Amino acid sequence: MADVFTPAKRSAVMSLIRSRGNRATELRLIALMREHRITGWRRNAPVFGKPDFVFRRERVAVFVDGCFWHGCPRHATMPANNRAFWKAKLTRNAARDRAVSRALRASGWTVLRIWECALARARTKRTVARIERALSKCGKSSRMDSTHG
Ligand SMILES: [Zn+2]
Repeated sequence: MADVFTPAKRSAVMSLIRSRGNRATELRLIALMREHRITGWRRNAPVFGKPDFVFRRERVAVFVDGCFWHGCPRHATMPANNRAFWKAKLTRNAARDRAVSRALRASGWTVLRIWECALARARTKRTVARIERALSKCGKSSRMDSTHG
């Protein structure tokens, strides 16, 4: 069965779905960080690769990745229609994610990629622990390296 949308229209529709979905997961992470008194983050800071959250002092960049768009190993699905288009697109997304992470790490950032599904209630404990670990590790090294208090 053919897609009811043309590829261009489908792409526009799906990008709306993406931004809505991502906003919801970002809000969940914000609620979680508030609940655990994790402070010092900024949303949508102008940093390479557009991380969703940035802890500038600790140089930690956080991306909240949607399971579908970024190919979560547990929940990645391939739409039945326009398979070739989707395979190419999702492969491109994953490659871009890797390239962005690599570039940020090369310039001294700690990169955390948090799956949308890792914000589900049952898994938040581990997710919070990951963030706290990244912050404490970076906090220590930046204090050692810091020339200004
Ligand atoms: Zn997932």
